[in-house]
Amino acid sequence: MTLLDGKTLSLEIREEIRKKIEKRKAEDKAIPCLATILVGLDPASETYVKMKVKACEQAGMKSIRRDLPESTTTAELLEEIQRLNANPDVHGILLQHPVPEQIDERACFDAIAIDKDVDGVTTQGYGLMSFGLPSYPSCTPAGIMRMMSHYGIETEGKHAVVVGRSAILGRPLAALLIQANATVTVCHSRTKDLPSHLASADLVFAACGKPNFVQGDWLKEGCVVIDAGYNKGNIGDADFESCSKKASAITPVPGGVGPMTIAMLLSHTLQSAEGRDVSLV
Ligand code: NAP
Repeated sequence: MTLLDGKTLSLEIREEIRKKIEKRKAEDKAIPCLATILVGLDPASETYVKMKVKACEQAGMKSIRRDLPESTTTAELLEEIQRLNANPDVHGILLQHPVPEQIDERACFDAIAIDKDVDGVTTQGYGLMSFGLPSYPSCTPAGIMRMMSHYGIETEGKHAVVVGRSAILGRPLAALLIQANATVTVCHSRTKDLPSHLASADLVFAACGKPNFVQGDWLKEGCVVIDAGYNKGNIGDADFESCSKKASAITPVPGGVGPMTIAMLLSHTLQSAEGRDVSLV
């Protein structure tokens, strides 16, 4: 059984990014800059933003942090996004999900300029990605695809089952898997008899936000399990103990998909600064 080590791979990617930025500095080129927007006081969101800002610093990238109060309105958040859109020094904008209830999150995501949508959250970015056109795919699915490619996990002709259909994870992941010629089944909370779908899966993606949900005895012997979940207490969405007995390869939690997300965010921001066409992972 292979442990798919996202931590080491992400550090390698981040080191490559750091070297590229160092070279840009030596050539007097623009330093990539990520703007993060955090609305409210959600402790988990604050931790995620801190991790992203720290990763920028370590890569030699600039970052701008906008922390807005819990009471922020949609109009105020839209104004902040417009300011960052208009700032030529900003190459990527990350609006941390979730935002407080009173805010129209979709309208705010869609206000992000397409060339700064480094986390693939806009409707336009999602559409482009779905058609395999140049775009920045959502960072977690992008990280998953990159990790599979690194480990030589084939997707062509394989049956991939994605458990979860969220806009940031399940749906874009399914679209990337289709681009990679997998045959994709997407399961969700209304799916009937989930184990029957997983029984024929060569590739299993746990992305449902339920701790230890996917069970080893639902799986086909030798399948690959990618656990995108991250729940309180460092627990994934797949039950590692039982799934690792059936799988030929599996991601640990932590140290699997999570670190790849940040590596992709930095990579997309660098690509935006380079102003070059974006290719899918
Ligand atoms: P989400 O928005 O809550 O979506 C969860 C999805 O799982 C929904 O589509 C839901 O179905 C489905 N689901 C819920 N219960 C289910 C069940 N019993 N059987 C099958 N499907 C079920 O969550 P998310 O934002 O996509 O996150 C999913 C997981 O990934 C979480 O553990 C989160 O922490 C993790 N995550 C990690 C990263 C990272 O960087 N590592 C990034 C993002 C998310 P319905 O659509 O029918 O409600």
